[in-house]
Amino acid sequence: MIEEKTIQYELLIDGEWRPSKSGDYFDVENPATGNTVARMANAGPEDVAEAVRSSEEAFNRGTWSTMSGADRGKIMWDIADRIEERAMELGMLESISNGRPISETGSQMSVVASYFRYFAGVCDKIQGSTIPTTDSHFNYTVRVPLGVVGQLTPWNHPLMIASKKLAPALAAGCTVVLKPSEWAPLTPTEIGKIALDAGLPPGVLNIVNGFGPTSGKALASDPRLGKLDLTGGTETGRAVAQIAGANLTPLQFELGGKAPVIVFDDVDVDDAVNGCAFASFIASGQTCIQGSRAIVHRSIYDQFVENLANKVSTIRIGDPTDPQTQMGPVISGPAHDRILEYVQHSKTEGARVAYGGKKPSGDEYTSGYFLEPTILADVNQNMRVAREEIFGPVVCVIPFDTEDEAVEIANDIPYGLGCSIWTRDVARAHRVANNVIAGIVWINDHHRLHPAIPWGGFKDSGYGREGSLDFIHEYTAAKYVCVRVDTESVDWYGAAGTGRRLN
Ligand code: NDP
Repeated sequence: MIEEKTIQYELLIDGEWRPSKSGDYFDVENPATGNTVARMANAGPEDVAEAVRSSEEAFNRGTWSTMSGADRGKIMWDIADRIEERAMELGMLESISNGRPISETGSQMSVVASYFRYFAGVCDKIQGSTIPTTDSHFNYTVRVPLGVVGQLTPWNHPLMIASKKLAPALAAGCTVVLKPSEWAPLTPTEIGKIALDAGLPPGVLNIVNGFGPTSGKALASDPRLGKLDLTGGTETGRAVAQIAGANLTPLQFELGGKAPVIVFDDVDVDDAVNGCAFASFIASGQTCIQGSRAIVHRSIYDQFVENLANKVSTIRIGDPTDPQTQMGPVISGPAHDRILEYVQHSKTEGARVAYGGKKPSGDEYTSGYFLEPTILADVNQNMRVAREEIFGPVVCVIPFDTEDEAVEIANDIPYGLGCSIWTRDVARAHRVANNVIAGIVWINDHHRLHPAIPWGGFKDSGYGREGSLDFIHEYTAAKYVCVRVDTESVDWYGAAGTGRRLN
């Protein structure tokens, strides 16, 4: 078992694995057992500054940014191959650090690899355009990489989210300093080993593990960054925006969510129930696009709640490393207590617990942060559970009568990230997709992700988009070049008269 020995990781700076300058380490706990599974070198501000220096020098040396796109693509393709070869091992490292079952983490590695493959193919296709203006000038743009990109990533999909950011940044020719979450830093650190083995030059990717308020803050405040890219909570986004904003650092934010799952009365109820269970309980509900609000037509409401309760009663909770397990613990003791507090509070506001709402009983659950999948019925928009991101295995079921009301409820929150619409009425599906405020809309599905699609939200869910060909330019800037092709000399001060062109 991987868990029997504690793995130790150092910081990756300049292509070398080094302890932090302070010599400090922090422990990573398995949320299913409370055992320590890893010891991570703890980067302080001086280590982060070193990492940024290294990335800046690597960028300026041009070993990556001026390498041909085809050669960059080969290295990225190799990274993808190595991820796939080690998929189950990487999945296991995630399962023992963030508690997600191996059935999820192992299978997610093919998506991780697909981000590197997709953007490997983009490396040699980053091009500008020519711009017709006047006969006397030839104009063109080139797309240039932004320089050093700082990336702050969360623990819920540790390697997938790091890869969603790394792959396009590297494809664009940027260099990167990555600060993974302290809760599940194992696989985002392993990617450093994989990248070096695949031939990524030293300094192109530096990895500084540590805590948000110290190493994360140091990275966000560094004026040498060409961009800062965060996936995390909305409050972290606000804090980071203030720090990085002082340096006018360009920002990209993938933040919190509270996705509606809108279920109309023309659905096959069991199909929609299966979809809702999938939307709500993958990763113990700890995803930004978790279906946390099932907005269900009143005529099928009771049946939906009953069938959903039956469905979730079959979810196998347990050891995340067991391939049979379908739901693991939540990430930590504080998260466990916070989620239960939301459930308790919802009852005082009139919600009904239709399933779950507590820790599962049994000896195997005592030392981990396990919770039952929880269904809260009779929820309305005034309740805290309907408005705030719980980030746990809790779904609120809210009734509606008309399509307009469903859309109003869906939009009546500060977030605008994901939304799924369940109906057989094709016109209604597109109408509602048009009217909901969400960056990602699924019709009769949920959670689907691919490197070719743009990912991101509106309102408090952040700004910028990850993925897709269109958004590779989140990591490049246009440089405009204007060439005078006119043979006539220009003498502004020698010429006289009106009607001359200044610009
Ligand atoms: P956090 O906001 O706590 O952390 C995100 C990252 O930021 C971590 O690396 C964290 O480090 C770091 N960080 C925290 N505070 C600071 C700070 N003051 N300055 C600089 N860096 C800081 O998020 P979680 O890891 O708990 O992830 C859950 C959140 O992420 C949820 O709100 C979820 O909705 C959102 N999310 C959004 C996604 C999207 O695509 N929109 C996808 C996945 C998650 P450390 O962990 O060490 O504190």
